[in-house]
Order: sequence, then structure tokens, then C-alpha cells
Amino acid sequence: MDNKQFVTQIADIKNNFAQWYTDVVLKTELVDYGPVKGTMVIRPYGYSIWENIQAELDARFKAVGVKNAYFPLLIPMSYFSKEAEHVEGFAPEVAVVTHAGGAKLEEPLAIRPTSETLIGTMYSKWIQSYRDLPVVINQWCNVMRWEKTTRPFLRTSEFLWQEGHTVYASEEEAMEDTIKMLNVYRSFAEEILAIPVLTGKKTEKEKFAGAKATFGMEAMMLDGKSLQAGTSHYFGQNFAEAFNIKYLDKDGALKYGYTTSWGVSTRLIGAIIMAHGDERGLVLPPKVAPVQVVIVPIAAHKGGVIEKARELKEMLTNKGVRAVVDERDMSPGWKFNEWEMKGVPVRVEIGPRDIENNQALIARRDNLEKAPVCLDGFGDTVVALLDTVQKAMYEKSKKNRDARIVDADSLEGILKGVDGKNFVRANWCGCRECEDKVKEYAQATARVIDENSTADGVCAICGKPAKHKVFFARAY
Ligand SMILES: [Zn+2]
Repeated sequence: MDNKQFVTQIADIKNNFAQWYTDVVLKTELVDYGPVKGTMVIRPYGYSIWENIQAELDARFKAVGVKNAYFPLLIPMSYFSKEAEHVEGFAPEVAVVTHAGGAKLEEPLAIRPTSETLIGTMYSKWIQSYRDLPVVINQWCNVMRWEKTTRPFLRTSEFLWQEGHTVYASEEEAMEDTIKMLNVYRSFAEEILAIPVLTGKKTEKEKFAGAKATFGMEAMMLDGKSLQAGTSHYFGQNFAEAFNIKYLDKDGALKYGYTTSWGVSTRLIGAIIMAHGDERGLVLPPKVAPVQVVIVPIAAHKGGVIEKARELKEMLTNKGVRAVVDERDMSPGWKFNEWEMKGVPVRVEIGPRDIENNQALIARRDNLEKAPVCLDGFGDTVVALLDTVQKAMYEKSKKNRDARIVDADSLEGILKGVDGKNFVRANWCGCRECEDKVKEYAQATARVIDENSTADGVCAICGKPAKHKVFFARAY
């Protein structure tokens, strides 16, 4: 199969981005569809990316004092009625177990859409005194939200995520936690996923049901749509009151705690695909790539080639690099194309002539450049190159994102901006009606309130004095 045939297996990224996405996730074996509509099977290549995300995030959580635990999948339905806004937000999406053990259950059980209510109930039992605070617990788990339209990684009925739930004695500490975790997500997205993000507070309309404030991080995808890639919520005492999370303070008074929650999900894999991909398929940042370096032997039947390829792999493995030798009985050209589609950051070609010259040919996936490198110090050269690729991917992505931030001072301007596949920054009065108008007129939503600039004029939609600058975009 030649290069052209290989590439035509996936739809044109410029003309049909949605089909390109579907082709890429299936053909690179990240996922397959599950038998139940809206579910996905995460295959080894996709799951390995998730494991790398988990390992890196988990280390960052632990560095700021987060502890992991596990809570049950099933939650009594009555728990959901304790917090009215919360129940409203989730009711249509909750899957319910009504039968078990061959009989109808006395109380139906929800399959967790999030564990907020269950964890809140446990916290009310565990927290008695100010000495028990703060509680900062995270769980890695699956959740289920019955969705009408689904797409692998972006929106599926069941997905994997982490949910952190905290309780603090004071408003200040809880708010500090909310922002701190948002920043953990931001640095993770930028340093590990090579994706620049806009972070900030969500509008009332877009915030999480029951939260006092929601902060989000938004990433620009190659098709000009924004992807909400993580959220951090501040609940004030809303949840503590609903779930009776009280502690005896130093002054002898019984007080409600202040709670927060924060989460990211397998959606991040969708972000990686859509922020970095190209017409050949995936382009994976080295830090999360399941295979960082693939070594392809050229004229593998010739004496010493396979041995040399394995030796190079050994050198890389010893440096902590995830490397493989592709020894399959297929042409080198076929292998190049397949590994390119799978987004492996660095390819090494080694053949008899290279061995003679004490060199190997190295190809970068991010910019498709090829160059020979000397085999002396090969391991260090490749380690440095992976770092270069990681940084170059971030810079490229940031340049693209920065070029897609435009300002507008009218509803027409907002429409023009989002049609042009941009984040549109506009002055906004803070009222819901104006957001609704943008939604109706431009099919765009307020992504986050800009935390780096202040309103300087009148609302772009209604002309009343503006309170904030907001980023509008079409979104996933
Ligand atoms: Zn307005």
C-alpha cells in the first residue's frame, strides 16, 4: 500500500473534520464502539494514553496533598433529591437500576453521574471537628450520563475521569483550592498535552448546577471549536448544608464546611486528537504517546540490521524512552505510514548503509523533517529531540490559538468571529439575555470570563455598561 492509499483511509481534515476525527479514532485503534449505544471500548493504544495522563496528573495531585479513595458505583436515588439544583442538572441523564437479585428494589439506585452526593454523605459522617479538616480526596473512576448524541472521548454515556471533592473550614481556603486545582489542570494541559488553554470563571448560565462558581479551561481545536477540557467548582456552603457536613470549630460553635470539586476526563484524549492532528492522522505529544520512538529496520534480512535496531531500542529503554522495534514482515514504507497515522513522535530508520556510516535516519512526526544522526550518544540525542518535539508542539498550538483570539463590539462581530473559527472576546453586561442572544444569533456560548482583562466600554450585545470581557466560541 503506498502513502496515498494509506492517507485516503481517513477523511480530509480540511473538508470533513468530523469524519476525519471518527476515522482517526477507529483506524488508529484508540477505541471501538461498545454494543450499547453511546458506549466506547477504549483499546490498548487509547488506554495507554489515558494511563500516561493518569500517572502524570496523579503525581501532580499528590504533590499538592490530594489523597485517593474509591466510592461505590451505585447511589441511592434519595441522595439526589437533597440538593434541588443538583438533581435538576442531572435528572435527565441519570441511569437507574430498578431490579437486582431477581426482584424489584425497594429504592431505585442511580449509577453515578458524579459522586458529589454520595461523597457528601460520607463526609458528613467523617467530619466532626475542625481537626478533621481539610479533607481533600480524589477518585479515579467511571461515571455514566445518558447522552442522546455521542462521539468517542468527547461525549459518551460512560466515561473515565477523576473527581476531587474537598471540604475546608473557611471560604478563603476553599476558594484557594478551587483556583489551585484549576492551575494544576492548566499546567498539566500546557506542559504534558502541549495544549494552551484559556482559564477563567464560567458565567451563571454555563456554571455547574448547584455550584456558587465554576472555573473552566477551554482549548481551541483545529476546526475552530472550543473544548471544555476541565472544570473546578466552588460550592460555598451549598452542598455542606444539603448534606449536613458540619464541624465543631475551635470557638465551640457548630459550623458548615465549604466544599469544592474538580474533574477532568477521557475527553482530554479528544482534545489531544483535535488540537494536534493533521491530514495523516494523530500527532501525539511525546509525554503522553504510548510509543515515543519506533525503530524501523531497513533491509532487515541483511546481517546485523535487526541486531542493531534492537541495540538502539535497548539504549532508549535505558534512558526511560518508550521505544519499539517494528519487526513485522511488511515493507518499511507501509510501516512508516502506519506509525505516522498513529502519531508516534519520532521514527528511527536503520539499514546496512547507516550502520556502515555509524548513523541512523530520524524523522519527526510533528513537522515531518528527516535528518541523519550519529550513533555516538544516540540515547541522549533522542531524549533531547523528544523534548524539542514536545516544546515545538506547544509553541505551534499556542501560535494557532493566539491567532484565533479576536475582539468584537457587536452581535454581528461576534457572529463573524465565530464563523471565522475564533474565540471572540467581547464586553458583556453580565446578563443572561445577552448570552441567550449570542446563542441564538451566532450559535456560540460564553466559554469563560477573561481573567486577564477588564471590561472597557459597553456590552457588545445590548449596549449597557459592561461588567466583564467574555470569550465566546462555538463549542463541543
Ligand atoms: Zn448586555
